[in-house]
Amino acid sequence: MTAPASPARPTPKPGVMDIAAYVPGKSSAPAGVSKVHKLSSNENPLGASPAAVDAVRTAAERMEFYPDGSATALREAIGEAYGLNPANILCTNGSDEAIGLLAQVYLQPGDEGVFTEHGFLVYRIYIQSAGGVPVAVTENAETADIDAILAAITPRTKIVFLANPNNPTGTYIPFTEVRRLHAALPPHVLLVLDAAYAEYVRRNDYESGVELVSTSENVVMTRTFSKIHGLGGMRLGWIYAPAHVVDALNRVRGPFNVNAAAIDAGVAAIRDRSHVENTVAHNDHWLPWLTAELTQLGLRVTPSVGNFILIHFPENEAHSAAKADEYLSARGYILRRVAGYGFPNALRMTVGSEEANRGVVAALSDFLKT
Ligand SMILES: *Cc1c(COP(=O)(O)O)cnc(C)c1O
Repeated sequence: MTAPASPARPTPKPGVMDIAAYVPGKSSAPAGVSKVHKLSSNENPLGASPAAVDAVRTAAERMEFYPDGSATALREAIGEAYGLNPANILCTNGSDEAIGLLAQVYLQPGDEGVFTEHGFLVYRIYIQSAGGVPVAVTENAETADIDAILAAITPRTKIVFLANPNNPTGTYIPFTEVRRLHAALPPHVLLVLDAAYAEYVRRNDYESGVELVSTSENVVMTRTFSKIHGLGGMRLGWIYAPAHVVDALNRVRGPFNVNAAAIDAGVAAIRDRSHVENTVAHNDHWLPWLTAELTQLGLRVTPSVGNFILIHFPENEAHSAAKADEYLSARGYILRRVAGYGFPNALRMTVGSEEANRGVVAALSDFLKT
């Protein structure tokens, strides 16, 4: 018997080449467009806190030094802001890293990871990277359906990812529903509550998940500095989790996964409550305004509680999402195509500056008359 021939060059392990790489929102407009409004990645139209900008400038003077590998100052600042024990917080290189670490640590090849039909695409990517089997379950009215999630649980299920509110739909489920999901999950299944947009939500029946994490052994919450704090470029997120989960993640993460400038920026950003409040106030004004104006144009908009809206285009070729995207891009308004999320005829728009919001509505009004 002869050994199988070795490949002529290094080969990725099985499954890697089946992964569809994440496609980020566009950031540029066609040549010749003078002013670009990037509304494709749910970034903060007010920018970062000035205190965070200062902190990064100061950090630049000390960039030869390694960061504190356990980001102690940042975990303490987060703990103070939310009344949490810093020992249950782990800081990550964006919350994407937290999602990846959870998949890597809790999924063996063949294990199933569950998420919803229009859920964040990063879940699928990390489940596949871990050798797991991605299981997408149907939603109800573009909203997570707890019964559908529960129906998908099998003995191979190890992890459930739930973005609440979800991206790109902007819909959320009341916390009674999250509790009902948790109560029916087998105790060995990890429930990941991705609360990337929690700060924006203004609903009495919404909770990000802090209390459920505190009182359970199988629930974690991920958060990010990329959205309300305006630090997308710094790559900073965190996870609030039971001690046994923090312990496991700490064993596999990079020893210096969060860089020094990001740590300092995060400490300054989380202490700047007024910047957060101003951002929420801006969103509270413009989200309903955009929803009303776009609806008036005859476009269907999914009701959102986040800092973005999903805009659905008519079923006629001339006014499709693809055509609208072209039309808007040519005028400097960069929105997000969401075909990869199961919405071939919709665009996601971040709530932008006043100028951007008014500009998009005016441009779409013109577009629909073409
Ligand atoms: C933007 C977003 C994140 C945050 O990603 P970062 O890696 O922290 O920038 C996480 N989850 C969802 C659903 C998001 O939309």
